[in-house]
Parts: sequence; structure tokens; C-alpha cells
Amino acid sequence: MKRCILLFLILIPCAIFSQEIKLERVEPPNWWIGFKNPEIQLLVYGKNIASTTVSVDYPGFVIKKIHKLKNPDYLFLDMAISPGTKPGIAVIQFKSKDKIAGRYLFELKTRAKESSQRQSFTPSDVIYLLMPDRFANGDTTNDDLPGMVEKVNRSNTDGRHGGDLKGIADHLDYLRDLGVTTIWINPFLENNQLKYSYHGYSITDYYKTDPRFGTNEDYVKLSNAIHKRGMKLIMDQVLNHCGSNHWWMNDLPSPDWINEWPEFTRSNYRSGTVSDPYVSSIDSNLFVRGWFDKTMPDLNQRNPYLKKYLIQNSIWWIEYAGPDGIREDTHPYPFKDFTSEWGKRILTEYPDFNIVGECWVNYPATVAYWQKDAGNKDGFNSNLPSVFDFPLHDALIKAFTEPEGWDTGILRLYEILSQDLSYPNPSNIVVFADNHDVNRFLDTQKDDIRKLKMAMAFLLTTRGIPQIYYGTEILLTTGADKGHGSIRKDFPGGWAGDPLNKFISGGRDQQENEMYDYLHTLLQWRKSNEVIHSGKLRHFIPEDGIYTYFRYNSKDAVMVILNNNEEPRKIDTKRYNEFLGKYKSGTEIIAGREINDLTFLNIPAKSALVIELKK
Ligand code: CA
Repeated sequence: MKRCILLFLILIPCAIFSQEIKLERVEPPNWWIGFKNPEIQLLVYGKNIASTTVSVDYPGFVIKKIHKLKNPDYLFLDMAISPGTKPGIAVIQFKSKDKIAGRYLFELKTRAKESSQRQSFTPSDVIYLLMPDRFANGDTTNDDLPGMVEKVNRSNTDGRHGGDLKGIADHLDYLRDLGVTTIWINPFLENNQLKYSYHGYSITDYYKTDPRFGTNEDYVKLSNAIHKRGMKLIMDQVLNHCGSNHWWMNDLPSPDWINEWPEFTRSNYRSGTVSDPYVSSIDSNLFVRGWFDKTMPDLNQRNPYLKKYLIQNSIWWIEYAGPDGIREDTHPYPFKDFTSEWGKRILTEYPDFNIVGECWVNYPATVAYWQKDAGNKDGFNSNLPSVFDFPLHDALIKAFTEPEGWDTGILRLYEILSQDLSYPNPSNIVVFADNHDVNRFLDTQKDDIRKLKMAMAFLLTTRGIPQIYYGTEILLTTGADKGHGSIRKDFPGGWAGDPLNKFISGGRDQQENEMYDYLHTLLQWRKSNEVIHSGKLRHFIPEDGIYTYFRYNSKDAVMVILNNNEEPRKIDTKRYNEFLGKYKSGTEIIAGREINDLTFLNIPAKSALVIELKK
């Protein structure tokens, strides 16, 4: 007993006076001079770091305020950058009892002059969506890395397969030659999760590329290589949740950093609750504060420090790596006052930046609520320039499979477009047949390639910004397999030793080459066709399974006809005379044939005609 007391007396003073201090992180890791907002807030993390005295000795770069929380392992520093501050390295010093407990070399860079004027993706672009783990493995040495808990296992459809940024870089010429102009890459930031780490939506470090994909420098190199080819890059960002293995989960800055519940509670996934005029509090609360998944803690963006952290993180990546746009995941799920401010802050620094939000609802009015300047009755402005056209996606799946009727079949496309009055800017909407979260379009059409071709012809000629999911051009299907992992199959030929290489025509069979050529023809034609990018749209009520529309401007006009019937049709065009009257002939783009008389048009079963009109 005596020994215990003695030991106690010896140890206590040691614990009090030799408090361990360890600086581990400063985020953002650097910043730029020349932003409209001259202030940043630094998150400083490290054991007992709040017990230190912080100083910075750098002309024009000063600490305005130091925030301490109950958790001694965090400091938040409000920093101000004065006009005329020179680029360089500012030393941030942390002192404890006159001893230096830590130093951080914080680089202030000069913002590139053209950075604020960068052009983002527009309706002149076609987006190609790919998942980095599943596209191509350019570097097998990064497949399994020490410290990364999930190892590569290609036989597990939900496991990591080894694809990486190098694999994407190796195939940029393939993508350029296909004719797409913009690449949307699913998230590439560190996901050090035990399972499902491949998809990237469980971020465990917001400032670090997952080492199995490469390094931050590799991402910059990829961005530059894409720009060198005249193409654009979209970064996929996640503001709603992080991964359960995120470094801060073991030592949260404050309990309200995440939305806590007495027990695990899922979101109700009802995005419509945000704009629903009759919503109940319980539904609204569950939607925004419920967790997306057990492994995806729901972030509380109303915490003022986290709010700034996330906004700065987005701006840091844009300035650091130069992506041309953002795709924002689960956009309605965070608090909407936060996402609105996030968008505003990005648009303040990059006025022409395009951001497309995933607002997954099948009703145009609800999706339109989320587009910037919607004029919503409740006064909410999302500051989100673009949204995905989920209503049109839903209609597209039904349009070619249902029997034609008064309100079914191809009429569904017409009906959705006729509701464009809801959108403040319907041409800046991303249109798609499928993506990484839904069944591949070809699967929904029971592998009927004719229907896939019709869908592509439609998406590439209607209003909006088309997005194509990787593998569409080679008829990739999920087949008998089920689940998200199979929707995200490996691109054949992306891995050394794959039995077939479908990146080259010799590795594709006849049908696959036909599909590739079909898309290639339309994509190359669309690239320079201003009338499709910005022309007006006029359409005619579908009759007898035929949907006809025109894209036109003061110079050019294009006529598109979709025949949804199982038989060919000879179409009498006099119904379109209000538009067609002044045109005499045309060139059909897909088959590359001249049409000398537009009075009657022959169209094969289940197919599309795209005709450049001539006077
Ligand atoms: Ca790899």
C-alpha cells in the first residue's frame, strides 16, 4: 500500500509537468495570395497543441484570432493576408514555456492570373464518367501498400481492383479519339476503409490522394495532361459525410463535428424533403442529420469550423490541381444554408466555374429547386449552377421499353422536356443514361443495342450537357451479376494480362466496334456543332411512336427523329412545315448520307436520324 502511494506521488508531477506536445497537421497545407477573400482559417492538430503559444513572423500574413476548443488537440487560427503580401514560406511557430514545441512551414503562393477566369465545362462538352479503381491499372506497384487496410482483390466485385490515376493518364488519347471532351473521375482522395474503399465516397483524408491511386502530384500531372489535349476535368467532391476511418474520428474536435444519434440512424434518403412545402420536422431532420451509411459519419456543416474547413478544401483543390468543374455528391443531404454558401464562395473566386450537384429526385420541379437562381418561393438560392437530369434518366429507361400509349413510351421524353419551365437554366443540366449508382442502360433495355443507340443519339442532340458512363462505347453490361460492384466492372484491357483489350478495335467484336463507331461519329460531329451546344429546341408531340425535334440558331438547323416502333416508318414531314418549310435537303450524320428531298423520310425500326438541314 505504501509503495503504491509513493509511486502515485512520483508519477503525478511527471504527468503534469511533462505534458506531451506533438504537432501533426496544419490544414490547408498552404494557401495563395490573390483571392477575393483575403482570410483563411487553419486547422492545427496535434497532441496538446492548444497549450502552446502560436506566432507567425511574416510580413502581411498575420494571426487575427486563435480559437481553442475543449479538446486540447486542436487549434483554429484565423489568418489574414494583406494586399501586397509577397509569396514565400511563413514559419508558424508553436512554443511551450519558451521552448519550441513545433514549427510548420506554410507556403504562400501567388495565385495564377488566369485562375479566376478559367472556363468550366459547358453544353459544348460531353462528359465521360469513370471510376479510377475500375478503369485501368497503370501501376501495379501501388496496388497493395503498407498502412492501407484493404488489399487488392480482383475476384471480389466489391473489392479493390488496382486501377489508378496512371491508368487514366495512359488512356487519355483513347478518350480524346472517342470524342468526349471532359472526364469526371469518381473521388480519388484517401479512403483507408476496410471494405468498399474502391468507390472513393468514404474519404479519410481531405487533402491526400489515396496512395493506391497515386499522389497529389500525380493528380496535378493528370490534370495538366488532360488540359494539354484540350480536354477538361471534373473533380468529384463529398461534403455530406466522411469515412468512418477518417483521421479525426478517433479524436473529434468537438462532439458536434458530426451529427450524433443515440444509436446508428440512417437518413431516409428522401431528397424531396428539403423543398417539400408540407414537410414534417421529423422527416426533414432525419434526411439531413441521418447517416448515409454506418461507415459514412454524417458531417455537421453547421459547426462553424467544419464549415470553413470544407469550403477551403474545395477551393484548395481547384487552385492546387486546376480541375475545370466539380461534381458534388449527395448535394441535398448537407444543411442547405451550408451548400449555398459553399457554392457562393467558389463562384466568388471562380465566376465561370460549373458545379453539378447530385440531386437525385425524379421530378423536374424538385430538381430545379437546386439550380442556382431558381427563384424559389422560400427564397433559397443554392448557388449550384448545374444539376443532373434524374427525371430525364428515369424517362429514358421507360421510353424505349414501354408500349406506346397516350402517356407512355417515347412520349415520356417529350413530357419531361416540356417541364423545363421549372429550371432557371435548362441548357446547363447534365443529361445521362446511366452512372456508377444505377443499372447500366443496356441492362435496363435487355441488351437491345438499338435502344442504347437511340438513347445516345437523343442525349447528344437534346438540350443539356451529355454524360456517358465508361464502357458504354464497348457495350459493357452488368449481366447476370448484381450489385454496385458489378455496375462498376473493370474496363477490359485496363489490366495487363486481360484476355481482351477493348481499348483497341482489334480487341472488340463486331457489335462493340459498331457501338464504338456510332458514338465516335456523333461525338466528333457534336464537338464543333454550335447549334447543338447553344441552339434553341423545338419539338413535336410524339405520334405513332415517332418523336421529332429541331435544334436551331440563326445559322444552322438540325432535325432529329426517333422511331420507337419495331417496324420501319415512312414519315410524311408536312406536320413539321412550320419549321421544315424553308429547308430543301440535308445530311444524315450517323449513316453519312445525303437526303435530297425532305417531303417523306424513311427511318428504320428502333433507330434515330440526325439530319443537318440545308436551304
Ligand atoms: Ca494500381
